[in-house]
Amino acid sequence: DQGSHTELTGDLNPSQRAAVEHAGAPLLVVAGAGSGKTRVLTRRIAYLLAARGAHPGQIMAITFTNKAAAEMRERVSELVGRRSGAMWVSTFHSMCVRVLRREAKTLEMSSNFSIYDADDARRLLTLVARDLDLDAKRYQPRALGAHISNLKNELIDSESAGSHATNDFERRAAEVYVEYQRRLSQANAMDFDDLIMRTVELFQVFPDVAEYYRRRFRHVLVDEYQDTNHAQYTLVRELVGTEPTESGVEPAELCVVGDADQSIYAFRGATIRNIEEFERDFPSARTILLEQNYRSTQTILSAANSVISRNPNRRDKRLWTSEGDGEKVVGYVADNEHDEAAFVAGEIDALVDQGAAQYSDIAVFYRTNNQSRVFEEIFIRLGLPYRVVGGVRFYERKEIRDVLAYLRVLANPDDTVSLRRILNVPKRGIGDRAEACVATHAERERISFVSALRDAVADKVPMLNPRSRKAITAFVELLDGFYELVDSGTEIADILEAVLDRTGYRAELDSSNDPQDASRLENLDELVTVAREFTESAAEAAALAPEPDTDEEPDTDEEPDVPTPEPGSLPAFLERVSLVADADSIPESDGGDEADEADEDDDAGVVTLMTVHTAKGLEYPVVFGTGWEDGVFPHLRALGEPKELAEERRLAYVAITRARERLYVSRALVRTQWGQPSANPASRFLDEIPAELLDWRREAPSSGGSSGGGSPRAATTWGGRPGTGSDSAQSQLASGGMRTTGFKGTRGDWKDTIALKLDAGDRVNHDKYGLGTVVSTEGTGPRATATIDFGGAGTVRLMLIGSVPMVKL
Ligand code: ATP
Ligand code: MG
Repeated sequence: DQGSHTELTGDLNPSQRAAVEHAGAPLLVVAGAGSGKTRVLTRRIAYLLAARGAHPGQIMAITFTNKAAAEMRERVSELVGRRSGAMWVSTFHSMCVRVLRREAKTLEMSSNFSIYDADDARRLLTLVARDLDLDAKRYQPRALGAHISNLKNELIDSESAGSHATNDFERRAAEVYVEYQRRLSQANAMDFDDLIMRTVELFQVFPDVAEYYRRRFRHVLVDEYQDTNHAQYTLVRELVGTEPTESGVEPAELCVVGDADQSIYAFRGATIRNIEEFERDFPSARTILLEQNYRSTQTILSAANSVISRNPNRRDKRLWTSEGDGEKVVGYVADNEHDEAAFVAGEIDALVDQGAAQYSDIAVFYRTNNQSRVFEEIFIRLGLPYRVVGGVRFYERKEIRDVLAYLRVLANPDDTVSLRRILNVPKRGIGDRAEACVATHAERERISFVSALRDAVADKVPMLNPRSRKAITAFVELLDGFYELVDSGTEIADILEAVLDRTGYRAELDSSNDPQDASRLENLDELVTVAREFTESAAEAAALAPEPDTDEEPDTDEEPDVPTPEPGSLPAFLERVSLVADADSIPESDGGDEADEADEDDDAGVVTLMTVHTAKGLEYPVVFGTGWEDGVFPHLRALGEPKELAEERRLAYVAITRARERLYVSRALVRTQWGQPSANPASRFLDEIPAELLDWRREAPSSGGSSGGGSPRAATTWGGRPGTGSDSAQSQLASGGMRTTGFKGTRGDWKDTIALKLDAGDRVNHDKYGLGTVVSTEGTGPRATATIDFGGAGTVRLMLIGSVPMVKL
């Protein structure tokens, strides 16, 4: 009785409804931004359950981030209650982890494998490259890692990589790949790309395993399909199948939604081929186009269409909205990045004062994370509430990684990268030489690093001096003490506390005078809190879990869906944090409709700062697009590279289409980049917005005039918006007044400016120079500089204040 479910389809347009109700053949929904693709996907799940008799255990929905997955699960559980627990809603990575843990035996692996993120992978690659005697400049771990990742995204395994190599670099990288995989497997670890590739392999090599999952998941749904790569596409195809299996299991129903114009992950191997060739990949497929945009005003939509239409080789889409024209796009040319941030802050303040928006309605976008610094500085000074999404990610902080490495070693003693990370952290007198002796011994004897450490204790490692041996013995005893805690079922939070105390990690930070160390301690406390909450919620989930077999489940082999590892266990905790870290580094997708409500509770009254990548799938009433300069957005790297430029333009399209009511675009005449002021020309994307849609609040000085000389602030025209209220920060800024103490607009007063804090030995990643190691730091405050060795790019001295396009690793 499908006709009676109007509560699920009544507020959809005919095309959306067709997509929700479609049954049978694979379905592709292609449509521009804001046309309700994600809404169709969630509704379809609800409809499958309510109208088509599907049960949650038959549904697998793949979203781009864990956050999107959580939101979708929440909505479905409102609909069907506890039974929704049986539904798989996850990212590609989490889904694969689940399958792989369950099927580890088939692949002759141990199910407690570690998941290596990009940083772990880079560490391992550094070791491999060193052992293979590769020239560290020509074969940088990052480049090797990117190449291997590309190969994996194309499902090219280490054995066949050599035959795909076309130049010297690729040939050497193929050798590295082989050794890297050997070490990974020795460490009982997989990197993110392996998760996908091994699952594909599992399905291809073991048809009975593939059939098990196909029998089980009768409905597979994928959001943001334009950002899938070849490996992910293959995974989907293996999962649903294209013809019946030998024992007669029909292909599962597939529904994917996407927009080729929003493909912004080509650098991770994503390919819009997957959308373009969908009908070839799945021959009986049906395609539905959506053409009505429900998100933005016509002005915003026209601006977006005009920009994206400059891209070659794209299918033109007709996107229309029944919303009116709305406000014009506001443009602003700032003297420099501080002035730009002051404009944004002033404008936000004015909008809120007028009641035109709440803080939570507002998002500020930039191209790269390091651009957030200037906004944060001024928001803090003005007392504007904000949060930065992404940015310096919690799980990438050194102290968090150190302590998690202890836990990872406790869960998987073979995890060499983690073990070597903590070997001398905090310092306990196990130097590089001692580490090398142990590593050599491990290689020679073909034993794991941890076994080699135990050999060291038993004095079986040659060349090891007695002092190192003693230090290693103490370390092994320390670890054994932790293993006892794990074995006796100690709570994860308490194990963490023990690690912090017994290793001296906390004491070291406690006794430090560096204010950074105080915040490191806070972060570690936060991690302990995360662990406590994890244990509590696992206990709650266990208490709430449905009795097995109480439901009238259909005949699909509905195992009580016990996820491995055991809920609440240490491996489960580590899996959670690895995958959260993953989601952090991937844009937080979507949500669309109802998602926003959920968000509002969490973030009431907070302006959101994020990169455009992170904004994919989201929407805000007010959007500030900042740094629209050639060399910033589009990114420097894309200038003169047509392909990359096209990707940047899609990114601009994503940025514009996040806005519902008001869009601002701004640029700075001068911006400090790489420690130097540089004058960037206007972004070409600005010119691509039709002039009649733009209301320039402040334009660039005409070429005849003084370019930034004299008093740029005096040249600022804040007008154009009568009735802005004289108490707004905007007008105070305009008159040079101060809202909070110490604020002087764009110049002077660096006192509480946030500087990048670095120490000798820290690893950094610089937008222009790449990876480097801090040799030394000099000076303090506004004069703080660091001398950094960027390998092939040379040794450079950089200022650490202002918008440094560099992150600490
Ligand atoms: P993106 O390409 O940015 O991911 P999308 O195509 O997934 O966008 P949604 O996020 O699903 O679009 O929807 C955009 C907005 O339009 C949401 O606020 C959603 O609630 C609203 N919307 C979608 N369809 C309808 C409809 N039929 N009636 C009213 N509002 C709708
Ligand atoms: Mg969407």
